[in-house]
Amino acid sequence: MDRKLLEEQLRALPLVQYEFFPTDTLVFTPRVRTVCEMECPQYGKSWACPPGVGTVEKCRARCLAYPEGLLIVTMTEVEDIADITATLATREDHEEITREVHRMLLDQGAEVYVLSTESCAICEHCSYPEAPCRHPDRMYPCVESHGILVTELGERFGLPFQAGGNIVTWFSLLLYR
Ligand code: SF4
Repeated sequence: MDRKLLEEQLRALPLVQYEFFPTDTLVFTPRVRTVCEMECPQYGKSWACPPGVGTVEKCRARCLAYPEGLLIVTMTEVEDIADITATLATREDHEEITREVHRMLLDQGAEVYVLSTESCAICEHCSYPEAPCRHPDRMYPCVESHGILVTELGERFGLPFQAGGNIVTWFSLLLYR
């Protein structure tokens, strides 16, 4: 892995922060999945979300198979953060940047496992649970779906999750080997 080249490429993107970390420092807990189950309308509706992604232990094992981690963060200002439609619309730009960083890692010969925001929206109707995912190579499960404790990452790296005002913060994890 040519880290210098990768960092040059990362600095050319509209990221507010990026951090490298060993994957085995991630904290996994079933508590996060309880929030998915209780509060997320996508629970049980996509291969990108629980329970379709498998148990927390399976998700953890899958992640740990990729020992290196890269966290990327973007921020966008919207007119009114209470406008959920406008706020969620900023997600696609972040997903495109995530795809770009994914390509950068692939170009360096890495195998990559990507976790990103919210639920997968590639297909109009997800095939879950009747048939396998139609695009497993392009589908990015949600970070929280794997039981990863995002608040721990936030504290460790001083992430601007609560930037205040009308700022929307998105982040992704790219695990690689
Ligand atoms: S790519 Fe399609 S089938 Fe796979 S998780 Fe996303 S929406 Fe579902």
